[in-house]
Amino acid sequence: MTDSPIVLVKPVLPALDKLGAALHEVLRSGVLTNDGSRVHAFEALLSARLGIADLAVCGSGTTAIQLACGALGLSGEVIVPAAAFPAVAQGVRRGSCTPVAVDAERTFLTLDPDAVAAAITPRTEGIVAVQTFGCPADVDALAAIARSAGIPLIFDAATCWGITYRDRPLLAYGDVSTLSLHAMKLTHSVEGGAVMSTVHPIADKVRRLRNFGIGAEGALPAGTNARMSELHAAVGAVVLGEADAEIVRRIQVREWYMDALRHTEWLRPVPFRPGAWPNVAAMAVRLRPDAPVDAPTLCDELKRDGVHARAYFTGRYRPRPIGTAGPTPVADELGKRIVCLPFWGGLTESDVMRVVDAIDRIGGGRCHESHALSLEYPG
Ligand SMILES: *Cc1c(COP(=O)(O)O)cnc(C)c1O
Repeated sequence: MTDSPIVLVKPVLPALDKLGAALHEVLRSGVLTNDGSRVHAFEALLSARLGIADLAVCGSGTTAIQLACGALGLSGEVIVPAAAFPAVAQGVRRGSCTPVAVDAERTFLTLDPDAVAAAITPRTEGIVAVQTFGCPADVDALAAIARSAGIPLIFDAATCWGITYRDRPLLAYGDVSTLSLHAMKLTHSVEGGAVMSTVHPIADKVRRLRNFGIGAEGALPAGTNARMSELHAAVGAVVLGEADAEIVRRIQVREWYMDALRHTEWLRPVPFRPGAWPNVAAMAVRLRPDAPVDAPTLCDELKRDGVHARAYFTGRYRPRPIGTAGPTPVADELGKRIVCLPFWGGLTESDVMRVVDAIDRIGGGRCHESHALSLEYPG
């Protein structure tokens, strides 16, 4: 194979002279970290873009979940999705809470509200739902459950930059929302995250907790070092300037995929909840139960063709051991069926064709085999 690999995500990387100028300015100031002016400026930029005033950045999307739990004063059981990136349960655990995994719903892969309602006990102190691959969870049903239980609803909206739901930023939903600014996300600060709320004043609490919880009455035990450095904030501000262009490119890349996958019946794009737009976080596809391969095998076979894809809900990504509120048949099934294909703005139409050709080869080869078999052995 001579073609270079098509990677899952290539980070948005602004022109080196722009990045260089921003970094040069930080280095010349001599202030490298500890709540400096670039962190504050980056927070103001993110706030302005989202229209969410109450926002604080931190070291990662994972510590954003941890700090959200800490800022809300949670310490008991917290419901998390059984089908989710391991960071969700880990962030909850690092926030001194006990994650309790609950099943997903089939269509949009988000937390199943019925399963959540059934899992609530007097020990439940909060819900962390994920806006899975940028698709909104059932926000109304989850909010109603949280309200009647008197517990906060946190959304891990790690991948949701640029996505709106019912004409509001998806990051504006829930009691608290968290964002990842990791290099593989649409906009990033290399490593980083943010916590925000349109309901509770949370940013100042997060600012305190990210800096060991240090404050007038002493250092809070929920505190840690989850700061963002001045260098990261400076890079984040430059990258943010490219986010709108990246969104436009990703919309195009998705159209190419939708067109190229039109005739592939054993594998279909995962639907996006109506009212949400644009679908720019990931290119998630679902394999039919009778597909010639399962999700991990598809990833292995694509890798041989130089295409990097990921089955996030199984194998090495599966958090364990983790307590569950009951059986999680849908999440278990999603592990075998859901794959994220390469998806980033720099992909060309011929890259997308290469990915889909590889998929069709993997599927088609098997179909012919079983065809031959059924011809040889009718009935
Ligand atoms: C990326 C991601 C995280 C983790 O974010 P980091 O910044 O890498 O810590 C958490 N949850 C989801 C859904 C993610 O996609």
